[in-house]
Amino acid sequence: MGVDSGISVSYPLGTTPACERDAKALEFIEEMTKYCDNVQRNVLSEILAQNAGTEYLQQWKLDGATDRETFKEKVPVVKYEDLLPYIQRIANGDRSPILSSHPISEFLTSSGTSAGERKLMPTIAAEMDRRQKLYSLLMPVMNLYVPGLDKGKGLYFLFIKAETKTPSGLVARPVLTSYYKSDQFKTRPFDPYNVYTSPNETILCVDAFQSMYSQMLCGLIYREQVLRCGAVFASGLVRAIKFLQLNWEQLAQDIETGYLSPKITDQTVRDCVSKILKPGQELARFIRKECCEGNWEGIITRIWPNTKYLDVIVTGAMAQYIPILDYYSGNLPKTCTMYASSECYFGLNLTPMVNPSEVCYTIMPNMGYFEFIPHDRSGNDSVTELLDLADLEVGKEYELVITTYSGLCRYRVGDILQVKSFHNSAPQFKFIRRKNVLLSIDADKTDETELQTAVENASELLKEFNTKVVEYTSYGDTKTIPGHYVIYWELLVEDPVNGPSDDVLDQCCLAMEESLNSVYRQSRVADNSIGPLEIRVVKSGTFEELMDYAITRGASINQYKVPRCVSFTPIMELLDSRVVSVHFSPAPPHWTSERSF
Ligand code: AMP
Repeated sequence: MGVDSGISVSYPLGTTPACERDAKALEFIEEMTKYCDNVQRNVLSEILAQNAGTEYLQQWKLDGATDRETFKEKVPVVKYEDLLPYIQRIANGDRSPILSSHPISEFLTSSGTSAGERKLMPTIAAEMDRRQKLYSLLMPVMNLYVPGLDKGKGLYFLFIKAETKTPSGLVARPVLTSYYKSDQFKTRPFDPYNVYTSPNETILCVDAFQSMYSQMLCGLIYREQVLRCGAVFASGLVRAIKFLQLNWEQLAQDIETGYLSPKITDQTVRDCVSKILKPGQELARFIRKECCEGNWEGIITRIWPNTKYLDVIVTGAMAQYIPILDYYSGNLPKTCTMYASSECYFGLNLTPMVNPSEVCYTIMPNMGYFEFIPHDRSGNDSVTELLDLADLEVGKEYELVITTYSGLCRYRVGDILQVKSFHNSAPQFKFIRRKNVLLSIDADKTDETELQTAVENASELLKEFNTKVVEYTSYGDTKTIPGHYVIYWELLVEDPVNGPSDDVLDQCCLAMEESLNSVYRQSRVADNSIGPLEIRVVKSGTFEELMDYAITRGASINQYKVPRCVSFTPIMELLDSRVVSVHFSPAPPHWTSERSF
């Protein structure tokens, strides 16, 4: 990178690196954050030199320039839709250097959607090493705060998802599926600080039930050795505990007999789990005793008593799962270790044991070139001057814009971040939110337009009953497991004698689900991580009461707009007290891993 070596690291009070390898990793973090601006300059110049011959960059006539000033002057800030024609050509087999001079190795399918389908992010082989580099920094930081993690195992619920192919044969799959299937993950060298209870085969099983079952079983077998429990996002760990609630009897039986349930049909999973599973009367008795009374408070620490922390992301939309995780774990610390996306891995949390509300991520300047649009809370989406990592101010909010080695140039990710402090010269960011996301239970991100379209499509079913949806709002209910979308509808029924039946309103729930994006439908159908959508019909006049309430709290009548998503308790109580009927989707919506390109 062209920065000085011989960095001196001052460790947080009372901490020392766990081993020589950790010391090197911490030194690297120190180097990157001390010379943040230099590193960024070099990264941009490297990217521009690497991709100088691409069709995308050629059109902006950089004429070989690799400096920031020319880049900022000539290359526009873009959104996914601007890149779609290029991405479509790559998907259809054009192998010329369109966005990247390196061959596109695969598409990573983002949970962000465009026109109802996952966005396709082109990536190159070398990016896998960059991601691996960021992963390699996580445990050295963790080991500073939690000693002894080499004395046991991590119980991590990790999953792959179905993948598909573009017409030209490029694989398209989520970034974690790509990572877990990579040699970097599968043949990783033994590392005493990173020993998982789940054998690779259980993680690499595409059947969600069999994968979860076998990972839970191994977690139970190794229960006394487990020092940390986790999943990528909080919703995944909550789902795992729900799975235990539903399947403990069968799991205990397998442990008692030493014979794996015939529900596990994947032979590679059977083979590897059978090597671990031995008849264990005492363990089976213990599991039955802990689970049979249906008391799930503190279940994590009861079953895995040596757990020191939960390793799950509880920032952003995942904050809604903090209370249930506290309930399951007796308030164990929840560490949010990293901040990443399909487009680019961004950075890590340098103080992982802080409270979720204080979590900050430090973007590693070697991962890509990062720019920031000062964020205007009024909703003004126009782009003014873009700032560099080193120019940001504490307290201000920014929208993240990235330029990657894979060929995204000045791409708006959609995340809003706030600078909380600096580590050396690198800002530390609080994740504020993803722009335009109204509802999110798991990886799904539903925006206002998608919700509006879903309501419009569903209300088509009401036409023959002379009924209209006059107002609506929504709420992501995570008190149920899995969580589900609740939509409040106020109806105008012109002919009450011939109004819509319960059955028609149930079908409206399904019609809404059918209209939602493919990430929502996949979560509903393949992952079971979202429950059936619910419509709560409220009494006529309820939304006027809602407005009156907002006005008593200071809203202006002229500017009042019905909120399309609610979470404020008094408003929810008002809505719930006016509910006249409740309807659930009677069937899962349509979803297939195939997509049109
Ligand atoms: P995806 O495109 O599916 O890979 O999702 C990436 C997005 O997930 C990011 O752009 C963020 O909006 C969100 N995300 C990733 N990591 C975190 C985190 N640590 N905290 C909050 N949100 C996150």
